[in-house]
Amino acid sequence: MKYENLIIGSGLFGLSIARELLNKGEKVCIIDRYSDPNESSVNALGRIDPILGGAGHGNETKPIEVAKKSLEAYKKFISLNDQFKESIEFEIKPTIHFYNEENHYQAINELIEIIDNDRIFFSIEKKDYSKKIHFLPNKNFKYHSIFNGTIFINSKKFRSTLFEECNNKGLMSITDEIKGIERLNEGIKLVSKNKEYLTERLIVAAGPWSNQILGDLSDINIFPSKGQIIKLFDQNNSFTEFHLHGPCSVVKKRDGLIWVAATVEDMGFDKKITSEAAKELIQKATLLYDGIDKFPIHSQTACLRPSILDDLPAITQISNDQIYLASGGGGWGIMMSIMVGELMTELFK
Ligand SMILES: Cc1cc2nc3c(=O)[nH]c(=O)nc-3n(C[C@H](O)[C@H](O)[C@H](O)COP(=O)(O)OP(=O)(O)OC[C@H]3O[C@@H](n4cnc5c(N)ncnc54)[C@H](O)[C@@H]3O)c2cc1C
Repeated sequence: MKYENLIIGSGLFGLSIARELLNKGEKVCIIDRYSDPNESSVNALGRIDPILGGAGHGNETKPIEVAKKSLEAYKKFISLNDQFKESIEFEIKPTIHFYNEENHYQAINELIEIIDNDRIFFSIEKKDYSKKIHFLPNKNFKYHSIFNGTIFINSKKFRSTLFEECNNKGLMSITDEIKGIERLNEGIKLVSKNKEYLTERLIVAAGPWSNQILGDLSDINIFPSKGQIIKLFDQNNSFTEFHLHGPCSVVKKRDGLIWVAATVEDMGFDKKITSEAAKELIQKATLLYDGIDKFPIHSQTACLRPSILDDLPAITQISNDQIYLASGGGGWGIMMSIMVGELMTELFK
């Protein structure tokens, strides 16, 4: 049997492409090594925001090219229908952004000016500590601003909703781990431990593992960046409705838990959770919210961002014989994923 389209990886990148192809009436088979994957598409914070940089990454704003591309993705989330939004726990939360250098406000304001000149989606307002919000710690940051426009979604539900939608449109899915590929005259051969698959078109969307599958065929540097998240119970339902953004991101999501995100670690493909990361995250969160260390821990997760140097995803053809790559969303892959299917299928024209 020869498949028309084979996608490796049923994370959000793979599913976004599957959905687009199925909508065009093509036959699609997706292969993942797990029947119920638990990688970054399932564990991400789910922040959709083209303006503010990654919490704790040292950058106040996203690079301009990333911001412009992300705005397109942001608009797609905004225009989802109400039912879909509800299924992915879509919400827009005001952010309190903490900083020490006055020019950071300027940088954010300027980026809003460039990508959203009419302030349709975003705004930022400078605050000072004379108008103190009760939970704000006193001395840790010189300034804070209220930033409006940040979307949060539940990435796990986004993935399962997409998967269900694709299934209803005839997606074929296989659980198997692909070890490598071979190019033959009659098509592209995928090899797993016990099986072989032949396809006309191959799309590798295996997150940070994509290069392991492509081997020498790809010279695009996609590398794993480990991120850990701590979730806390809000037993008295007393936590703020603001998203707190500074050395980390702290937000109470619609699952009722307070998410503290995320570490950025260079640990290769190691996905173990560590007590050091838990300590680091709680210490950083305490700078943003007095007494957060008293909230009991619910759980901790660790997963790997498929990262790439310029932070823009690589949606590209790898070779003339119909091998494609879709990976490298870095810390913005949930946001970018909503555009990936369209960007990929444009390459097939
Ligand atoms: C802590 C953390 C927080 C984040 N927060 C945000 C956020 O707030 N906003 C945002 O936009 N992004 C965020 N991200 C980034 C986002 O999660 C990722 O960029 C995105 O999920 C990547 O999706 P993907 O489909 O490319 O990869 P993955 O989700 O990693 O999916 C790849 C799939 O390929 C499968 N696979 C791998 N190798 C093989 C193989 N050999 N054979 C078969 N299957 C294979 C895996 O099992 C997996 O299911 C965060 C990431 C982390 C780690």
